[in-house]
Amino acid sequence: MSKTAKVNILGVNVDAVTMRDAVAHIENKIESNTPVLVATANAEMIMRATYDEELMHILNNASLVVPDGAGTVWAARHLGHEMPERVAGYDLAQELMKIAAQKKQRIYFFGSAPGVAEKAKHKAEALYPGINIVGTRNGFFSAADEPTIIAAIKAAKPHILLAALGVPKQEKWLACHLEELGVPVSMGVGGTLDVMAGVMKRAPLWMQKAKLEWLFRGLMQPKRIGRLMALPKFVLKVSRSK
Ligand code: UDP
Repeated sequence: MSKTAKVNILGVNVDAVTMRDAVAHIENKIESNTPVLVATANAEMIMRATYDEELMHILNNASLVVPDGAGTVWAARHLGHEMPERVAGYDLAQELMKIAAQKKQRIYFFGSAPGVAEKAKHKAEALYPGINIVGTRNGFFSAADEPTIIAAIKAAKPHILLAALGVPKQEKWLACHLEELGVPVSMGVGGTLDVMAGVMKRAPLWMQKAKLEWLFRGLMQPKRIGRLMALPKFVLKVSRSK
């Protein structure tokens, strides 16, 4: 794939890609076999990067930053740039799994509460016959556990590592261990394993189409209702940055 345009949203360079472009980019990276990071930037992640320098640096050095969520697509267009469509992290992960089953690529699930990655594995095996999930590991660990986790991932030799540790832990952990792991493509996937395992629901399609997925997530997890404020704050900040 040729180099895509980057759109600067509050300092984060987001790739103006379609789902198809994103998949092509990733498949290309798997073939070239040099470890890269893929990030899925929603409004909350971009807001966080504005005050988290390390996250900003990681995102701006990632191989691909897809426009995850209606907020990111709106911001790009509001700032006068082309942004073809939303590329949700969950959907991108599903596309990659579908292709992995066909191409016999190996995938590793790392993250979420104990038992979730295993359930997600069973779901993936039912959805994408022939898929090879070569390992799972929950996302709750101490620094002392890290060498074992890294050794297990390396031994499994995945082509794709999906890390569900939440933002920004997953991006920071992956960026820190990228070279050591030697996995061609590592991607932070947030709540994807939870949704696959049935622990968390995804917004119904009508809400996704009405660009209300953020509202659904906020309402489903009332403990984190404060996080809902990230979107109006983001809208305000983007409007002011124009
Ligand atoms: N998680 C994890 N380790 C941690 C913190 C969180 O594995 O130390 C998992 C959590 O169980 C959930 C996932 O990370 O499955 C995503 O968390 P959250 O919904 O907070 O992510 P975000 O919305 O930031 O992507």
